[in-house]
Amino acid sequence: MVMAYMQRTLAGPVHFTGPGVHSGKQVHLTIRPAPPNTGIQFRRVDLPAKPYIRAHFSRVVDTSLATVIGENGCIVSTIEHVMACLAGLGIDNAVAELDDYEAPIMDGSAGIFSKAIRGAGIVEQDAPRIYFVVKTPIMLEKPDKSVCLYPAPNFTITCTIVFDHPAIKTQRLSIELTEEKFEQEISQARTFGFLQELEYLKFYGLGKGGSLENAVILDQDGIVNQGGLRYPDEFVRHKILDCIGDFSLLGMPILGHLVLYKSGHLFNHEFLKVFFNNKSAWETRSLVEFESENPRSDDIPPSAAINDREKRSFMEPGNL
Ligand SMILES: [Zn+2]
Repeated sequence: MVMAYMQRTLAGPVHFTGPGVHSGKQVHLTIRPAPPNTGIQFRRVDLPAKPYIRAHFSRVVDTSLATVIGENGCIVSTIEHVMACLAGLGIDNAVAELDDYEAPIMDGSAGIFSKAIRGAGIVEQDAPRIYFVVKTPIMLEKPDKSVCLYPAPNFTITCTIVFDHPAIKTQRLSIELTEEKFEQEISQARTFGFLQELEYLKFYGLGKGGSLENAVILDQDGIVNQGGLRYPDEFVRHKILDCIGDFSLLGMPILGHLVLYKSGHLFNHEFLKVFFNNKSAWETRSLVEFESENPRSDDIPPSAAINDREKRSFMEPGNL
């Protein structure tokens, strides 16, 4: 998440066309700029009333195969990579218009969304951005998985995945998010799945749009895709991408260090509820307020402190 003082939106609309991964149906998606304090809203322009659905964890109705939000009987499915992209690029306000119920999967990553949005440009708006500032650690732990959020002066994600598969095994990555790092190190990482799962989904009429064009597919021995991987650890990078999307459903960016062990959409959403109900563990602040309450060092002048912070952001990906 970009450390911005002011809220941000796109400089102009961007358009995408492609199939939904589950519906297999062609859908048009247009992401438009929106005024300050709009947040991210989806809009079903194929329905008579063209209803809006707020992209917020309180509107999530299903996370089993994809993140689905719904309001007043109308749904939008598979929003996770669009959300990850908007959050990763530090966009606070936008309206994503769809003419079907499922967002297009594109190449299974957020790379195409990201390139188009950065191409259109991102503009600052005349309203301060408000952050969730983590004050005390918040944890959700089960025997085989955990999500922990610690106080930090930036948004850092440390993610570990463990799969009993020769192409994945254990992967761990820590990244302090900036717009550039999101674009270069995370946005291109594709979703992945196992061949048997895809066959199973298709048997039940789901995953109709799923193919080697929009996912890394694994069989028992390795990677089925001819072109191989985009990053040697593409799997953990995609999990970080998913996590950025899931946590963006809080509606405001976080100043904190998120540490995930074997988590996924479902468990991330469980954590969001724990986070939101644990109101003594965080407060909401603008970056100006946060910096005035948390000076980096009393004897460093403000300009030097900023340089120091920028240096640290490149040198220390995870300072737990
Ligand atoms: Zn994903």
